[in-house]
Amino acid sequence: MKLISTSTRLLAVFGDPIEHSLSPAMHNAAIADLGLDYVYLAFHVRESQLAAALGGVRALGIAGVNLTIPLKQSALSLVDELAESAAGAGAVNTVVNESGRLIGHNTDSEGFVASLREDLGLTPSGLRVCILGAGGSARGVSVALARYGAASVVFAARNLERAEALTELISRLRPECAASAVSLTDRHGLRRVLESSDLLINSTPVGMTTNTDDPIEIEFERLPAGACVADLIYNPLKTVFLRQAEMRGYRTMNGVGMLAHQGALAFELWTGIKPNVQAMRQSLLDCLTRG
Ligand code: NAP
Repeated sequence: MKLISTSTRLLAVFGDPIEHSLSPAMHNAAIADLGLDYVYLAFHVRESQLAAALGGVRALGIAGVNLTIPLKQSALSLVDELAESAAGAGAVNTVVNESGRLIGHNTDSEGFVASLREDLGLTPSGLRVCILGAGGSARGVSVALARYGAASVVFAARNLERAEALTELISRLRPECAASAVSLTDRHGLRRVLESSDLLINSTPVGMTTNTDDPIEIEFERLPAGACVADLIYNPLKTVFLRQAEMRGYRTMNGVGMLAHQGALAFELWTGIKPNVQAMRQSLLDCLTRG
């Protein structure tokens, strides 16, 4: 790592809680790999303090920040300008400080698409996708998949109202992508959806190390042979959901690739330099396997 001096530029992540964030390790690995004069730190910022913290970004000339739970939505109205990626995803995960003007971006969705290519060799074009959940990441991922030409997206959720709201959003933004919703309790409906899905994505927190909910019951065998299964979760690296899919012969990917790629895209927005995604991914794997 370069010695910190008066010319060192600051990057950071804001969130609440923040102590488990892997972003400092991942970004400092990229900075070290390139020998850049930057440092990336983590700050515990409560939602009520986000406006003040973003004021600090302007006042101190911090080059850019990532935002994580629960700040991604609140930032929509606090930045000076929204890039299309953030407006579409309805969330800001990356803020770029352009001479005191804060531009809100979202790199999570593009990160997922990049990971899909790298980990599964899949491009969204023509894909029939089923997404479990209808929260923030379901929105971001579905908007990106639809933008890149997915043939259809079905939101399978316990809260049908949220799923229907996402269906309307996709139909408005990308009418050529057939969007629909199904309740997780509608076994028959869900079975039909699985039978015509090329890609099944878990976008719920069920299966995370810190989550104690019962697994969502999925009849994986209904998926066509050759279908792929993705989990946005990266801790643990292999969720019960992915294990079950693998046991039935489906190719799978976890959330590490999405995390590494969203970070790499943010890094490029801040510095103008494409970082080594593999170095970032490796630093994540090191953290996750160290526990
Ligand atoms: P979110 O906005 O809170 O949405 C979570 C969704 O999961 C909601 O639709 C929620 O339903 C549903 N859900 C929660 N518990 C459930 C259960 N027991 N059964 C059925 N549905 C359930 O969260 P998010 O921001 O989308 O994040 C979701 C997951 O994605 C997290 O595990 C997060 O770590 C992961 N993620 C990963 C990355 C990455 O880079 N790899 C990036 C972003 C997020 P209700 O609406 O009914 O509550």
